[in-house]
Amino acid sequence: MQDPVQYIAVQAPDGQVLGYAWADYTVGTLNWAQRAANGVEGTRLGKEWWDKVEEVRKQGLPLAGALTELARSAGTGPPVGASGPEAVEALVFTVTEADHCRLLAQLDHANADAWRELAEAYAVLTDDDRNVRWGGGEKSASGAIQMPYPIYSEPLWRVVAALWGIGAVTPEYRWSVHPPPTLPPTGRLHPADAVRAATFLGNAERISEGTVDEAVRSGLFDAMVVALLEQHAAQCAPAPAARQADPVPQGAPLLCRFCGGFPAAHVTFHAHRGLLIALRFRRQEGPMCATCGLGVYRELTTQTLWQGWWSPFSLFLFAPFTLIRNLVAVGTVKKLRVSAPGRHGRQVDPGVPIHRRPLAYVALVPVLWVLFMSVTGLVSGR
Ligand SMILES: [Zn+2]
Repeated sequence: MQDPVQYIAVQAPDGQVLGYAWADYTVGTLNWAQRAANGVEGTRLGKEWWDKVEEVRKQGLPLAGALTELARSAGTGPPVGASGPEAVEALVFTVTEADHCRLLAQLDHANADAWRELAEAYAVLTDDDRNVRWGGGEKSASGAIQMPYPIYSEPLWRVVAALWGIGAVTPEYRWSVHPPPTLPPTGRLHPADAVRAATFLGNAERISEGTVDEAVRSGLFDAMVVALLEQHAAQCAPAPAARQADPVPQGAPLLCRFCGGFPAAHVTFHAHRGLLIALRFRRQEGPMCATCGLGVYRELTTQTLWQGWWSPFSLFLFAPFTLIRNLVAVGTVKKLRVSAPGRHGRQVDPGVPIHRRPLAYVALVPVLWVLFMSVTGLVSGR
């Protein structure tokens, strides 16, 4: 019995599969299916094939004969049977290691300024920047309702703009033929997927306002920037000979997400603000060197010390918990040898120790208050 569908895979001279010419014997059609992962050149060659299939179709050959005719061209093979059109569709959406490589090759690692700009723009992002407000939605005198639109802060847009500089927004990824990128459950992106996400965000916002806002909320935005910076850090890691002085336990060395310095350890610092019912949790996560890690620790801990107490849950739960977690994390970075600044950014300024920061002493207020209440409680309870 004949297969319901037969196809031939078509390869470019470099071995990349461009797409599939396929015959659907159930409905009697000859088709061309372009691979979704094709880049600029692949798309161009694929269009030539589309014309070629069209030409053969016009000759009015029997389907099997038409496919055999096409299979005579360079870069093809004998027809293969398949269970139905969905089998061809599955092939169209396969992504290969070569596709990943082609996208990663678009990153402009030589442009140190562009990478520094991305690292710096990302490092200064605040919760307020991430909390995108929306305008519009008002009814005018004529009764028309203005479409709502996102109002992106300048620092947030600076990060988006920096994606172009490093080459992460690229025509090599045809974002419009793919479903929108999502964050995997691991919370981390493959660097090639980070390029896909960057290309999508860089383009889709113009068509569908709020795309960037959605990515910030879902965590895709942060995962994308972190994956890109890590990819660059790995590319620009010092040569093996220079690295020998620093024994690395295993795998690729971690490089500081702020300065690209080495050695670094993966840590997470937290800040908590509790204001009656408005609770806010902030965190900075990723590989950090001793200097940058200390800077982040001091900043977030000081913030928590003065802002972290002012709701019941915050006082007894979130603030102490946040402080303890930061202490554990800073223990990790303090064990690292002090690193030289890396190649992709300035180091975070560690500033003065926390005990020399006046704001930290705000924490005495809730502590003394709890002591006072306990003592008065004890006294009056007798
Ligand atoms: Zn650093």
